[in-house]
Amino acid sequence: MDEHLDGVRVRFCPSPTGNLHVGGVRTCLFNWAFARHHAGAFVFRVEDTDMSRDTEESYDNLLASLRWLRLDWDEGPEVGGEFGPYRQSQRLELYADVAASLLEARRAYYCYCSQQELEERRQAARTAGRPSGYDGHCRTLTRGQVTAYEQEGRRPVLRFRMPDRTVTFTDLVRGDIAFEADNVPDYVLVRGNGHPLYTLTNPVDDATMQISHVLRGEDLLSSTPRQVPLHEALVDLGLSERVPQFGHLPFVMGPGNKKLSKRDPGGGLATYQERGFLPEGFLNYLALLGWSIGGDREIFSMQEMAEAFDISRVNATAAQFDLKKCEAINAIWLRSLAADDLADRMVPYLQAAGLFGDVTPEQRAVLLEAAPLVQERMQVLGEAVEMLGFLFVSEEAFRIDPTDREKMLGNEASRVVAAAYDAVCVLDAWTTARIEASLRAALVDGLGLKPRNAFGPVRVAITGRRISPPLFESMELLGRERCLRRLAAVAE
Ligand code: GLU
Ligand code: ZN
Repeated sequence: MDEHLDGVRVRFCPSPTGNLHVGGVRTCLFNWAFARHHAGAFVFRVEDTDMSRDTEESYDNLLASLRWLRLDWDEGPEVGGEFGPYRQSQRLELYADVAASLLEARRAYYCYCSQQELEERRQAARTAGRPSGYDGHCRTLTRGQVTAYEQEGRRPVLRFRMPDRTVTFTDLVRGDIAFEADNVPDYVLVRGNGHPLYTLTNPVDDATMQISHVLRGEDLLSSTPRQVPLHEALVDLGLSERVPQFGHLPFVMGPGNKKLSKRDPGGGLATYQERGFLPEGFLNYLALLGWSIGGDREIFSMQEMAEAFDISRVNATAAQFDLKKCEAINAIWLRSLAADDLADRMVPYLQAAGLFGDVTPEQRAVLLEAAPLVQERMQVLGEAVEMLGFLFVSEEAFRIDPTDREKMLGNEASRVVAAAYDAVCVLDAWTTARIEASLRAALVDGLGLKPRNAFGPVRVAITGRRISPPLFESMELLGRERCLRRLAAVAE
């Protein structure tokens, strides 16, 4: 089934209009894997011709996101390539030239209809039960009509002349697809003000960048029957060598079985970065949305995905984004990290929470010891702030969580914590084993408390929370002085 393909060139071509959304990342990943699988080229292009919506900030975010995901591109911004530039805003001359060629070859024509005229005829067609798309009014204007329109000062749009036949193509994911001519009217390529639209720029770039396979979201399926004839026209004009093959990836559905969108709380990539997903874990989960590496295997690296990726095994039915599952897979990746790697990756989250600035050697040493203590207990890196904050916060800023205080530090607790203070303050060696032995002797044997009732209040006094890394290790790491200070504060 899966033969090696030569000359594979695929692209990821988002518009810089805000943060990448989850479906976009999945599209990017599948393109990347397809390119790597066939030892082809992964082209990254930025479709920034929508002047009203694109921002430079979004452009920078886009690049930062791809870098964070470690989905490396062979051609595109920052790396260059022989088909550049890779920002559409820098290719406007090309689009103007192609538009002129299409016009000259009569594959496109000027349409002078005003918005109002179009609207009136649309209504009339609807009433008469005819297709309500553009009716081809300006396909065959006479010279006289054109002159009259020009004299009225009308600025024409450029429309593509769709062939009067059913458009068919074989979708790499969905199989044979046919769109009847009536349903695909002539469409606008260039606005009256000369501004080229996505309808022109996207296929022109795919053609001139020699893209072999267009893999993109299902939301774009309806634009393919327009683009295939345009690609054919570009081939006829000698501007392109071939029509690319198309494959449309299934929707990613969010909660309530609605298509996950950028505006959903869990729809944008930024949320996952901020919460501290690992790129390995997040991409591993996304790979499962519509594809499977085989059997019921769920954990694999992007390298392994690239080796195994087969577009013909992508599922056409919509995929459900399951946050719990995504977190669980991320947790598995977290557990697989070496302690120093985990420590390094936690640093930015602790910094963002204001717990430290540049890491001092002492802080790093504490973090290295703390990392294994929390590794099994975290699903995302951001949890390090709550779990380990107590080690790095200054004594002045240290606070006990109010809910946990209420739950665990009732009347009885000050007596327990006072006993804990007395037990550990006489220790001559501040080690996990000695701390544990002395607290057990004093609280469990001495006061006759159940371990939970004995250590719960101590845990809250030391870490500020009911959920923390293991208590005795935490106390060793925090150090004698700070522990005694926190115990004394609660004992009072
Ligand atoms: N810029 C388009 C988008 O972000 C790309 C569509 C395509 O892949 O053809 O939707
Ligand atoms: Zn017209």
